[in-house]
Amino acid sequence: MHAAVYLGKEQLPVLEVPEPSLGDGEMLLEIEACSVCGTDLRTYRHGDKKIVPPRILGHEFCGRVIESRAPDTSIQVGDRVVMYIVLVSGTDRYVEMGRENLTTHRTTMSYHHDGAFAPRMKVPALAIRNGNLFKVTSDISSEVMSLAEPLGCCMNAHSRLGIGLKDTVAVIGAGPIGVMHAALARLQGAQKVFILDNNPARLEMAKGFDVDGVVLVKPDGSHREEVRALTAGFGPDVVVVAVSSAAAQNDALDLAAKAGRVNFFAGLPKSSPIAPLDVNHVHYKELVISGSYSEKKSDFQAAFALLHSGRFPADKIVTHRLPLGRIEEALLLMESGEALKVCILPKE
Ligand SMILES: [Zn+2]
Repeated sequence: MHAAVYLGKEQLPVLEVPEPSLGDGEMLLEIEACSVCGTDLRTYRHGDKKIVPPRILGHEFCGRVIESRAPDTSIQVGDRVVMYIVLVSGTDRYVEMGRENLTTHRTTMSYHHDGAFAPRMKVPALAIRNGNLFKVTSDISSEVMSLAEPLGCCMNAHSRLGIGLKDTVAVIGAGPIGVMHAALARLQGAQKVFILDNNPARLEMAKGFDVDGVVLVKPDGSHREEVRALTAGFGPDVVVVAVSSAAAQNDALDLAAKAGRVNFFAGLPKSSPIAPLDVNHVHYKELVISGSYSEKKSDFQAAFALLHSGRFPADKIVTHRLPLGRIEEALLLMESGEALKVCILPKE
């Protein structure tokens, strides 16, 4: 079969690779859709120490079980499934407190196990034993269901933000993750939801979602006044930073209302993770700052259920569909901001 194999920085060729062969307890999926993640792009451009090449990338997928050597499970040949991609192999205090995304006893699909930029992918026995496969029971498209993984990551941030009817929310970053955060804030009843970005084309796409306004981030900082004006002078109660930028993190601390909550959803590049931040905003405004990394199984379950409900604007988030052979083009579409989610359809 053909697969997109990561060989090192800026090398993701589509190569002929052996068919996956199953051991006891494993399953084979025929991949129907696999969306391109921002981290795929980051790995392509900058490499990732956790990934030892050669490795088939792709971790936002939906597929159908076509072979099973795991008889003792409710998932059967013919079922369409999505997968919680964190494989936990032991226990520690983080697993015990339900924060399994934070354990060191984890491996991850497309990092430590071959992923789904391929027509077929093997599901490790551990994932099946741990109940990581979720059966799709409606006729919702596989492209939409491929968003369960990134939406779960957003749910992880929201599980600690507690957005509700009293809140105004600003999301910095109008990429696919930014619009997902905005849509989640809306579904949770936020009074007002705004999206900020420095790319006017991305803001145009963001206007297609149920938001109260979009704000262009300008080098002179005047967007901060604009956001304050939109929030009765107070600033947003919640600010989510969905771009990898220290300037955006500073904007978040400056913009947030007193007693506000700020989530640094995106980290900074590993090569320059230290940023000067005006921490007096945190002190005087009594801000609560949270981080967010990967997702808990409970977040994935919630994302899966929300997509199933049809109440999430997922089909507007998938803007492009490409065959596996055009994967590099998919990465460029994401990088330019022309696309929100690009979905790879790898069936041969
Ligand atoms: Zn992802």
